[in-house]
Amino acid sequence: MLIALPNTEGTFTATLFLPHKGRTPDFESVETADEARRFFEATFPDALALMPRFEEDWISHPTSSLATLRLRHWHLDRRAVLLGDAAHAMVPFHGQGMNCAFEDVEALDRLMAANPDLAEAFAAFEVERKPNAEAIQAMALENYVEMRDAVDDPAWRLQRTLELQLAERHPERFVPRYSMVSFRRTPYALAFERGRWQRALLAGATAGRDGLDGLDWAAIDARILAELPPLPADAA
Ligand SMILES: Cc1cc2nc3c(=O)[nH]c(=O)nc-3n(C[C@H](O)[C@H](O)[C@H](O)COP(=O)(O)OP(=O)(O)OC[C@H]3O[C@@H](n4cnc5c(N)ncnc54)[C@H](O)[C@@H]3O)c2cc1C
Repeated sequence: MLIALPNTEGTFTATLFLPHKGRTPDFESVETADEARRFFEATFPDALALMPRFEEDWISHPTSSLATLRLRHWHLDRRAVLLGDAAHAMVPFHGQGMNCAFEDVEALDRLMAANPDLAEAFAAFEVERKPNAEAIQAMALENYVEMRDAVDDPAWRLQRTLELQLAERHPERFVPRYSMVSFRRTPYALAFERGRWQRALLAGATAGRDGLDGLDWAAIDARILAELPPLPADAA
């Protein structure tokens, strides 16, 4: 996947995501500037046309790694506790790594104030935050696949169209997962769980269709009202 984010001075910073090795294409097979040019000519010709200093830029920007860090324990009795990336580094495709660390800080502060025994506070912190960190780690990985493969897939786009309409029909209940994660106070684990239910409904309702005409809106509304409770006030 190649992405380009705009800079304030009117340029773009482009980032190419590839496996390091073992799959084609990978960074091992596009190492030199000549190999990279051939790869871009075949794969991203429209972007290449906008990169006047391609070879120079390729050589001066080294590759690095992205990883998901999963640890069994986040604390050592009352002596040490991990938070932020040290506890749960994630791939950056949901833009939530820093936010997740801020949420850790809020939780740890609250639990330390409530628990004079540090070991208990750290244990409660791990119990509260670990499932949420694991949920956003999983959603960040899913978002990569979605950004790379799905955005120009007609079936996926139809699901997004239906998702927006259901969000308008049921604003208290059917909140798109991206919105719950990015724009609400919904805990990641709850957003993950509700998002899975919502996605199954979207996939089922749009399967084999190329538009929303003739959809059984009454049946869909009834399922939502019966099975998807309103978002709790502190998560909305
Ligand atoms: C490409 C990319 C894009 C991202 N985009 C987003 C985004 O859009 N939104 C978002 O919320 N998050 C984003 N993130 C994630 C975010 O940057 C991290 O989640 C966040 O920086 C984690 O903060 P942290 O304090 O836990 O760790 P860090 O920022 O890694 O801070 C750890 C600090 O400890 C220092 N350190 C390490 N070892 C020692 C030592 N032995 N002694 C003293 N100091 C030490 C390091 O130098 C560093 O300064 C992105 C990450 C990447 C890689």
